[in-house]
Amino acid sequence: MKDYCISPPEIVALPVAGQSTVFPVRRVYCIGRNYAAHAIEMGHDPDREPPFFFQKNPNNLDPSGEFKYPAKSNDVHYEVEMAVMLKSGGKNIAIQDALNHVYGYALSLDMTRRDLQAEQKKQGRPWEIGKAFEDSAPVGPIRTVQEVGHPESGKIQLTVNGEIKQEGDLNQMIWKVPEMIAYLSEYFQLEAGDVILSGTPAGVGPINKGDVMGIEIAGLGAMSVPVV
Ligand code: MN
Repeated sequence: MKDYCISPPEIVALPVAGQSTVFPVRRVYCIGRNYAAHAIEMGHDPDREPPFFFQKNPNNLDPSGEFKYPAKSNDVHYEVEMAVMLKSGGKNIAIQDALNHVYGYALSLDMTRRDLQAEQKKQGRPWEIGKAFEDSAPVGPIRTVQEVGHPESGKIQLTVNGEIKQEGDLNQMIWKVPEMIAYLSEYFQLEAGDVILSGTPAGVGPINKGDVMGIEIAGLGAMSVPVV
């Protein structure tokens, strides 16, 4: 037991569906523009440019089931994404071996202060204040690989107050899950507890307090996320 000079931060832990154990989070990597139609709507060429990632913080993942509207923004956008939880890691992981490192998957949202992100983009600055705020990634219970396998195709959808806003198919990802794991492992030592948010389909837009987001991914079920 180390003699910490201050109380150590709590390890962020996410619920696993149907189990009493929880998943400890180490790091969170998010891929940008991973569905062609979303790349186009954000003003980019959807050709297969190399993937790029930004990070959220472990405590940005919020399993509470609601989204707390953040400070300092008047244009907070939803992005429904499939989260990938790793049970092991490595360096230079082969694409063929990558899925062996996955513990499970979850519904998630990469909530974004779009006005702040747009300003940072314009100035060529990092996206942290737009992306990596507390509770910026509501996340559902983790579904294990034993339970759901590896979702590779099927609906990924978001509604606001019952109206469909985002609708895509997991098979539209430009960079597939094994490719993302392999790519990240060339640059970082991946470890158990690392989480990857795998990108959002087209249709991103604003939400307001009082709205209810509904998110659904084939094989992972559905959840409602009220904005409070
Ligand atoms: Mn995103």
